[in-house]
Amino acid sequence: MRSLQNEAAAQCPNGCEPFDVTYWSLVRADQNDDLKAAILGGELNLVRCPECGHYFHHDGEIIYLDAPAELLVFVFSPKDKQRAAELQQKISHDYEIIKNSLLKDAHLDYPPLCVFGLEELQNVLRHEENLVAESEVVAASSAAEGFEVARLKPSYARQHHFPFYIPAPTASAPAANDYAVAAARVLKSGLNSALLLQFKDAMSAPGAQLPILL
Ligand SMILES: [Zn+2]
Repeated sequence: MRSLQNEAAAQCPNGCEPFDVTYWSLVRADQNDDLKAAILGGELNLVRCPECGHYFHHDGEIIYLDAPAELLVFVFSPKDKQRAAELQQKISHDYEIIKNSLLKDAHLDYPPLCVFGLEELQNVLRHEENLVAESEVVAASSAAEGFEVARLKPSYARQHHFPFYIPAPTASAPAANDYAVAAARVLKSGLNSALLLQFKDAMSAPGAQLPILL
């Protein structure tokens, strides 16, 4: 399913008559770079009141999906923030439906994030850019230390504050601690990465599970 637009009645914050708008309700960031740029630039779903000329964001619900990054975000109106607890049920319900219909092609096997308003979505995307940048440094440093680079399942890495890329242990059937040892060697080379440090600590903990690779 590609990006989708929806129609709704927009309400100007100056109390003017409601008017009809077309707004983006599903953003496939993996297919529409322009829409992702519009989110970061603050122009997505920006509308103009025909009565008073005021520009404002129509705050209809948006589903944001970047499938290769396994990043699914439900964006609600900032006005709904006080209803966050009660929305949890709606989110679980909607997620089950879209997983098997609207976004079936994306094979969703990871839970959605939930934010209120475009600004919070911008924060998620900027944070994501930082994670990608730090992960790329981890990959380069791992390669420089002679390691093969392995890729973690993105939603798993994000959830645990791990880098998207890690040094692969040389053992043929590595245990969790072998991942910790490989990470420790890359960190010892002088790499300053909180994400890799977090990964190393988690993998060296007693009873640590093997990481989920892509
Ligand atoms: Zn107005």
